[in-house]
Amino acid sequence: MRALSRQWWREGRTLGLVPTMGNLHEGHLSLMRSAVAECDEAVASIYVNPLQFGAGEDFDGYPRTWEADLATLAEAGVATVFAPTDAVMYPPGFATSVEVAGLTDGLCARSRPGHFRGVTTVVMKLLCVVLPHRAYFGEKDYQQLAVIRRMTDDLGLGVQIVPMPTWREPSGLAMSSRNGYLSDDERARAVVLSRAIAAAQSVAAETDQAAAILAAANEVLAAEPLARVDYVELVDAETLEPLERVERPARLCLAVHIGPARLIDNGPVLPPGSPLPLGEG
Ligand code: AMP
Repeated sequence: MRALSRQWWREGRTLGLVPTMGNLHEGHLSLMRSAVAECDEAVASIYVNPLQFGAGEDFDGYPRTWEADLATLAEAGVATVFAPTDAVMYPPGFATSVEVAGLTDGLCARSRPGHFRGVTTVVMKLLCVVLPHRAYFGEKDYQQLAVIRRMTDDLGLGVQIVPMPTWREPSGLAMSSRNGYLSDDERARAVVLSRAIAAAQSVAAETDQAAAILAAANEVLAAEPLARVDYVELVDAETLEPLERVERPARLCLAVHIGPARLIDNGPVLPPGSPLPLGEG
């Protein structure tokens, strides 16, 4: 991979990387299509990173669909797939980790201690090996995107992090590999996450008070008996600090268990009176 990247750099070709854990869906594909359109060479990585799963999480059961993923990537025009083994990523004696402070204190970090250290460590290694000019990340994993931006800025990696909007099913459900854990009934009920965001956004058009905005989201979630809420928070869109009033761009972020799956979603919340940016929602 490194030899190929170095050759492309010598030839003046730009490289785009889309890191994934495989089991590719339309959300991943939207990132792939942007990388193909905007870069001379698009590289997808597929690696189910053990470091970012906690004890008792779904590492063993995480869907691995290699053949289907290759076919999907070929169709999207991605000619290069980097799929390292554990021995390549974490050889015996591996002892380094990358940790971003602050942004990794709240939200998903509370119920997934060590998760973001696993993410930043693997992404750092992927960036070092693939040497992309641009790397594409989904807003679906909003905290992850913020953490990776911080890491690349702080360490001067010189890679452009490209944020991509959340790709949704027609019902509003954000696409996720973990939706595959849901029965048809649970999948229909999982729409409650995006409905909670929409309810919060419509209250936010009238008030800047976080308590009222959060109450609207919580009311929608409380009406769904299968939903077990991990967290619902309204945070500053950049620092991810909880807000009491929306005076600058904010983000409504939530994690909810539906049946066997822990699902996350988020959406923009702007000060009352601000026009919603195109493509957001
Ligand atoms: P994953 O394979 O779940 O680690 O995701 C790989 C990349 O795809 C991450 O940058 C995710 O944020 C992004 N992604 C996953 N689901 C979606 C979605 N529904 N819309 C946009 N991006 C997504």
